[in-house]
Order: sequence, then structure tokens, then C-alpha cells
Amino acid sequence: MGEENFLDSVQNKLEKVGKIMDIPREFIDDLKTPNFFAKAKISLIMDNGQRRNFLAFRSQHNNALGPYKGGIRFHPKVSEEEVKALSLLMTLKCSLVGIPFGGAKGGIIVNPKELSKRELEELSRQYVRMFFSIIGPDKDIPAPDVNTNPQIMAWMVDEYSHLNGKFTPGAFTGKPEELWGLKGRNEATGYGGVVMLEKLREVMKLEPSKTTIALQGFGNVGYHFAKFAYEKGYKIMSISEEEGGIYLKGGLTPETVKSCKEEKGRIDDCYCRGSVCDYRDDGKEMSNEEVLESDVDVLVPAAVENVITEDNADKIRAKYIIAMANGPITEKAQEILEKNGKIIIPDFLANAGGVTASYFEWLQAKQGKLWEKEKTFKELSRIMGEAFDKAWKFSEENKVSLEMAALFLAVKRVIDSIKVRR
Ligand code: NAD
Repeated sequence: MGEENFLDSVQNKLEKVGKIMDIPREFIDDLKTPNFFAKAKISLIMDNGQRRNFLAFRSQHNNALGPYKGGIRFHPKVSEEEVKALSLLMTLKCSLVGIPFGGAKGGIIVNPKELSKRELEELSRQYVRMFFSIIGPDKDIPAPDVNTNPQIMAWMVDEYSHLNGKFTPGAFTGKPEELWGLKGRNEATGYGGVVMLEKLREVMKLEPSKTTIALQGFGNVGYHFAKFAYEKGYKIMSISEEEGGIYLKGGLTPETVKSCKEEKGRIDDCYCRGSVCDYRDDGKEMSNEEVLESDVDVLVPAAVENVITEDNADKIRAKYIIAMANGPITEKAQEILEKNGKIIIPDFLANAGGVTASYFEWLQAKQGKLWEKEKTFKELSRIMGEAFDKAWKFSEENKVSLEMAALFLAVKRVIDSIKVRR
């Protein structure tokens, strides 16, 4: 997926916080690269009888705070560098929200949309066979990521349990509810993002009905963010997806957009020209770029990496940015945005609701006790809210950006846990 420099960009952030906060070089160097990186060739017999090889990765970045934790991505452009960068972000994320996990990430170079169901299942099971010795409930717990889902986790946990000789639901999170999945896991990342929005409201004295939002990405994260924000009274002015987006003067209703997208297949078809039009007046189609540059209060990139770059950073009009996607803002863009006085909730804080819910799912497996959805949301609000408060306070007290504050707090917790063993 992303570009090769995604890893450089995350590593440079570590360098920056190291300099600003005077962190000893040995720790910064240590955290720049994963503890362990595994690569495997998965050989699959395709439906046509021919064999095809797929390259698979697992990056175990750091486990000072607990077992490695991170999703598995199936994508034709997934790369070693990307998986390493994402595993580093996972370490920061888990540390910042205070859950007992380290950071990991995995991937397979594949376009899963070209595979049959049987091929996809076999590929997923083989991933587990290849990495069986290094994963497990107390070692490294994978989860879904781009193009992987609860069904894939069900195949994986089944394969793991067979190899392990016993039912082991704690080996994976993001499982279906029928197989010890967590009620509310699906909504958790978007929900956590809205906890961040509510925190911004608190500290910046915003009024939801007067606070406008532009959203890029209407997948799992984007849709749930929109849904919960709408329920709290915020105004979602525009939403875009890969093909384009839509805008409505009076604000969009996420449920309507969702059902329209399901019906028409594309979000930008939900605004149509001419006399037959779902949103008749006051609406228009918008390009992805226009959505990012919208005249709104809050911008929420919830799609892919590197969408705010030095080319468009100066054109961003929103005062607040909640980075729900992983790595949506490049390093140079971040500098420009901060110079322009933007308040940015960094990705490893904003989207940490997903891994926090995964922690609850892992706890369920450990305790043999299933949680109710209300408990998931209540605990999510508490943990995410506390993480924001700490980062905000540190940023105010030390006159550093919210990103640097969050980064410092995350890195410090990992370092403290390394130091105490010496
Ligand atoms: P998804 O596959 O459900 O949705 C992705 C959305 O992005 C779709 O609406 C798609 O149309 C849009 N998109 C794809 N390419 C685009 C482009 N070039 N321009 C504009 N839009 C584009 O994925 P998701 O689970 O919603 O994840 C979105 C982001 O959030 C990813 O960066 C992911 O790593 C991150 N994230 C997800 C979770 C989670 O729990 N799902 C947790 C943490 C972080």
C-alpha cells in the first residue's frame, strides 16, 4: 500500500521527539526497528490446479509492555516497510492508551478480491501454519486490518486451535461474535474517534450543532465515526470515498448515505444531476481533494495513508484534524499544518479504539466471560478519554504539539518498562 517513505516518516517522528524531549539515543534507535521480522512464502494450489506463491510478513516491533499485537493486511501493495511502520505505530498506540500489549503487524501481498472463497480460506490458514511458532495469546495476537475480516479471523483461530491441540480464542481478536468475538468491536474504532471529538468539544468549547465535519473514507471506520458523530448532533457536510464524494448544505445523514451506497455501489452516485436526485437541492458531488479542503471545522481522514501532503497542507481549512486512518498526514504536511495553527489528534491516539476493544476481546478469552456491548463502549470512553486528557495536559504544560506530547508519553511508558528490567 503506502509509500516506502512511510517508515522513514514514522522513524523521523521518533527522532524528533527524542530531540525535543531529550530521550537517550539508545532508546530511539531501538524503537526505530522491529525486534523480530519474519517473512514466509505461502504456496497455494489455486482453483485451476496451478500453484501460486504469496509473500507473507509478520513484524514484531516491541513487546516490553506485553504480547505483540497488530492486524494482518491482505493487499497487493503491502510491503516490508509498511508492515514495519505500522507495527511501530501499534507499539505507540497500545502504550499511549495504557493497555498491556506491544506492537506488531502482518501482511500478505495479495489482492484478495481475485481469490475464490476456498483460496482465501486456504491462504488464511496457511498464514497461521507459517507463523504458528511465533504467535499465540501470550506471544503475538493478530487481528483484522485492511481486507481482512471476522470470517478470516474465524478460519485463523480454528487453524491455530487445531495446531495447538486446544480451543484458543485468545490467539486472535476481531473474531465473529459466534466465536468469542466482542460485542461492539466492529464499531469500536469509529466510536473511539468520536470520543476524541467529544474531548475536543470539551476543551475548545465547541457546540455540536454548529460544528461541521468533512470525512474521507466511508468504510468501517468512516461510517461508524459518522454515525456516532451524527447521533451526538454534529453536522457531517461531506463524505468521500475512493471514487469521489458528496456534499449537502444542510448536512448528510449517515444511514441514508449508507443505504444509498449499498444500493448504487458508489457514494458519489448518491448525488445525481438532473431532475431525479436523492438530495435534490443544496447538494453537489465533490472530489476527494475538495472534501479534504472543505470549509469545515473538523476534518476526518479515515481512508488511507499519505492523503495530506506538502502539496495540499496549506489548503486545509479545517481547524481540527482527527487522523482516523493510519498515517494520513505526511511529515512535511504535519509541519505545515502545525505552523498554520491546526490542532491534530494523531493517528495512534485517534484510532486506538480498535486495539483497545481488541484488548477487551482478549480479556474475554482469558476470563472465559463474555462482555455486553454497553460495557465495551463505557470502558472505551474511559480509556480513550483518559489518554486524550493526559496528552492534552502534557501538550499544554510543555508547549509542544499534541502529537509530540502523545508520542513522548507513549515512548516513555515503553522505555520505563525496558529500564525497570535492567
Ligand atoms: P475499509 O476498507 O472498511 O474502508 C476504507 C475506505 O477508504 C473506503 O470507504 C474506501 O472507499 C476509502 N478509500 C480507499 N482508498 C481511497 C482513496 N485513495 N481516497 C479516498 N478514499 C479511499 O477500511 P477501514 O477499516 O475503515 O480503515 C480505514 C483506515 O483506518 C485505514 O487506514 C486503517 O488502517 C485504519 N484503522 C482501522 C481500524 C479498524 O478497526 N478498522 C483500526 C485502526 C486504524
